[in-house]
Amino acid sequence: LFITFEGPEGAGKTTILTKIVERLEQLKIDIMATREPGGIEIAEKIREVILNPEHTAMDERTEALLYAAARSQHFFEKVEPAIQKGKLVLCDRFIDSSLAYQGYARGIGIDEVLAINEFAIGKRMPDLTILFDLEPKVGLARIHSHNDREVNRLDVESLSFHEKVREGYQLLVKRYPNRIKVVNADQPIDKVVEDVWHLLSETLEE
Ligand code: C5P
Ligand code: MG
Repeated sequence: LFITFEGPEGAGKTTILTKIVERLEQLKIDIMATREPGGIEIAEKIREVILNPEHTAMDERTEALLYAAARSQHFFEKVEPAIQKGKLVLCDRFIDSSLAYQGYARGIGIDEVLAINEFAIGKRMPDLTILFDLEPKVGLARIHSHNDREVNRLDVESLSFHEKVREGYQLLVKRYPNRIKVVNADQPIDKVVEDVWHLLSETLEE
């Protein structure tokens, strides 16, 4: 099974993924947790290029292609082999980030970015995607209260950009209602963990 976590900045995806991994390990479930962009050396290097705050001249098409390039390498080098071995694969961000950020918020078009990704990974899609939904201003406020976070090129984007990202994700929920399940990320962490756990259990029981 292949399960992805999606959502805006400051939604708590990474924190909650860590807690979910601990619980799954206690149950002796064979899992592999990873992230995008990155997860393996080549893709982590592409991540550094994409997110470098000095790269303000990066064209949105270049950005979309680099995310797809990182995804292709990460998918075939790490994700697919783990799925083949029967592991439960959990990934912090995947294709829906590209569709929401580059496709919708940057205005390239969701279908255009989907086409680039089909070149990169074919028609593969996660079995389940958990979307951490919250108001952008809440997420951004959380981020600004964390001073240990890496600075990235997205930090200069306006609130309206982040609002478009949220709208983009909402369009994806309409497009993929069976795959994408929404969790309210504007709740205490333990409550979000419970909500995510509930969705996961439903999928694991199928
Ligand atoms: O999830 P994480 O915080 O590691 O993401 C790194 C950065 O990359 C975030 O600022 C996120 O908004 C950005 N990003 C993006 N487009 C994507 C994926 C991530 O702008 N397709
Ligand atoms: Mg994160």
